[in-house]
Amino acid sequence: MTNNTPANNSDSAHEVSARAEPVKQSGLLTRRTLIAGGVAAAGALVLAACAPAGTPILPTSTARAVRKLTPPRLDTAYLGEEILCYRPMRRGAPNMSVETVGSQVIAHNYGHGGSGWTLAPGAAKYVVDLVEDTEGGAIVSKGEPVTVVGAGVIGLFTAYELVQRGYSNVTVKAEQFEKLTSHNAAGLLAPVSMDNAPEFQAVIDQIGIDAYRFFASVAQGEQPDFAAGAKIVPSYFETREESGLEPYVGAVMEPAKDVVVDFGNGTTRDMVVYDDGIFIDTAVMMEELRAHLDSRVTFVEEKVSSFADLPTPLVFDCAGLGSGALNDDAEMVSVQGHLVMLKDQVPADMEYMILVYFDEGVTEANQKIKRSFYVMPKHLPETGVNDVGVVGGTFVEGGTPDTPNRSEYATMLQGAKDYYGIA
Ligand SMILES: Cc1cc2nc3c(=O)[nH]c(=O)nc-3n(C[C@H](O)[C@H](O)[C@H](O)COP(=O)(O)OP(=O)(O)OC[C@H]3O[C@@H](n4cnc5c(N)ncnc54)[C@H](O)[C@@H]3O)c2cc1C
Repeated sequence: MTNNTPANNSDSAHEVSARAEPVKQSGLLTRRTLIAGGVAAAGALVLAACAPAGTPILPTSTARAVRKLTPPRLDTAYLGEEILCYRPMRRGAPNMSVETVGSQVIAHNYGHGGSGWTLAPGAAKYVVDLVEDTEGGAIVSKGEPVTVVGAGVIGLFTAYELVQRGYSNVTVKAEQFEKLTSHNAAGLLAPVSMDNAPEFQAVIDQIGIDAYRFFASVAQGEQPDFAAGAKIVPSYFETREESGLEPYVGAVMEPAKDVVVDFGNGTTRDMVVYDDGIFIDTAVMMEELRAHLDSRVTFVEEKVSSFADLPTPLVFDCAGLGSGALNDDAEMVSVQGHLVMLKDQVPADMEYMILVYFDEGVTEANQKIKRSFYVMPKHLPETGVNDVGVVGGTFVEGGTPDTPNRSEYATMLQGAKDYYGIA
């Protein structure tokens, strides 16, 4: 066990032996559940054929423990704000590189797609390292002015990294500071929804592992600058591969377990669980970052049209989708996401995360969409203590505010209900 993992999670109070519980597989038939469920169903049929009527059908595998999870309340009365937001995805890999343009050095840090939170602290460290390693040492002395363009999670963690290293004249310049994609993001730490070329994957994994260490230290109360904003909760997926977390296992995480998730309503699912998953309460963490940086950097609300207009010799380009325009980067794509906040829940029942993928399709605006269901215990500051939970999610390639694809909210909520087996 690493220092970053909780000591007792494997003995979760929700976990009971598979032998003790009758289990039946039911619900939505995606290709993956059909295959996973198919094996279990075939075994169960054999048992059922030999057993007297009314005998509970037991799973054939004794290796899977049963986890009991309570579905959230998903009736209309328990639904809060509907949120549309846009992932800054870069085909091939995020741009984390340094270039010199005239007398100015531009350090790019944008295009992290659906994994900006998962990577941000590690990406900031990676890019500042690149700058400090360029031309045999620091490009500017730590007292010279530096501009960070963008105040999302990438810009704020870049500013944080600079301050940590002793840069004393940092300005964060951004067109907008509030209600960003970074505040809206669901909060799962997992490197998913990116489009990385295979040759970059090892670097991205290392950046994610560094970020995991950071968020784990926040979750365990060991990070002096951040009191809240991350916690360790079990993360459930259909397969290890879909989690993207396998490279983290052994480095910072424990191996996933095969479990049967029992929603207590007759619906069960074969899943894998990482008990040392990390949930980042994104809006809370954005507040914490901002509060920490307020007395240490200068914030300026302003749209940047060109890096050349900035008076500083070193610029960090962390403008998310805005970086696409600033760099004329044809690889940047907006990937729309639909979210619904939950309210009046039982917070103690929401201490887990699920991400499962459904089929691909086309939206009402004729855009390619990958549909999924995910749920996380997100809480927006200034909402009631029981207003906990967010349901997602969609991945609409090329989706923008002009194509809201509103019918996806209903499709998404139905997918969530079907997955939980809620009538
Ligand atoms: C529905 C949804 C769910 C998500 N869930 C997760 C999750 O569970 N886990 C995870 O890791 N990630 C998740 N993400 C992805 C994550 O939210 C993003 O990768 C991340 O927020 C991107 O951060 P950013 O700082 O690059 O961009 P943003 O948050 O968009 O910030 C960009 C900043 O740049 C500024 N800017 C832009 N152009 C200019 C300009 N020309 N001049 C000045 N300023 C400019 C903006 O005003 C803003 O301040 C999710 C995303 C979506 C849409």
